[in-house]
Amino acid sequence: MIKLAPSLLCANQLNLERDITALINAGADMFHIDVMDGHFVPNLGFTMDTIKQIKAFTRIPLDIHLMVDNPQEYINLLKEVKVDYISFHLEAVKYPRRLLQLIRATGIKAGLAISPKTNVDFLPYLLDYLDYVLIMAIEPGFSGQNFIPQMGDKILAVKKIIDKKGLNIHIEVDGDVNKNTAPECIKNGADILVAGMTSVFMKGIA
Ligand code: ZN
Repeated sequence: MIKLAPSLLCANQLNLERDITALINAGADMFHIDVMDGHFVPNLGFTMDTIKQIKAFTRIPLDIHLMVDNPQEYINLLKEVKVDYISFHLEAVKYPRRLLQLIRATGIKAGLAISPKTNVDFLPYLLDYLDYVLIMAIEPGFSGQNFIPQMGDKILAVKKIIDKKGLNIHIEVDGDVNKNTAPECIKNGADILVAGMTSVFMKGIA
C-alpha cells in the first residue's frame, strides 16, 4: 500500500493549523517534517517546539527528516515528542549503524536518507538496522527544484538490494514528487511518497 506523506514545509507557515487540517481531511497518511540546521544544508526547517505542537494537534504519524550535522543530538528530544519515524543523512554521521540502533531502541522507525550524490554500495551492510530508506530526488535543503531523472533508477537499485535480502524495508521518495513523477517512483518500488499540498490529490494514482 502506498502512503502519502505531505511535507509540512510546503504548507502555508502562517496557516499551519488550517493546512494540517485540510491535509488530514484529504487523507494524508503521515506528515513529513524537515529539520534543518543551516549547516548540513543552507536552510532552516521546523524546530522541536513546533514539532511538539504539531504532535499535540494530530494523531497522524510524524516522519522527521533530519538534514543536520550531529543528528544523534536530536534523538532524545524527538523521543520525548513521540514522533514515529526519524531519518538522517549518511554523510552527517561517523557511525550510521550505531545511530540506527539508537533510534530503534527508542521504538521509533529508523531511516537512512540518501542524497542524489550518495552511492548506495553501503546499503547491504546497514539493511538489518533499517526500517526505511529515504531517497532524495532533489538536492536536500530547498524546495522548488525539479525531480532529477536519474533518481528513478536509484529507487530501482535500492529496491533490488532490499529484495535480494528478502527484507520488508520501505522506500520513501522526497523531492518534487507529483502526479507526473509519482508513477515511476511507485513502479520502481517506492511506497511512501513525500509531496507538497497537492500530494493528497495523488490518492488516485497511489
Ligand atoms: Zn524531507
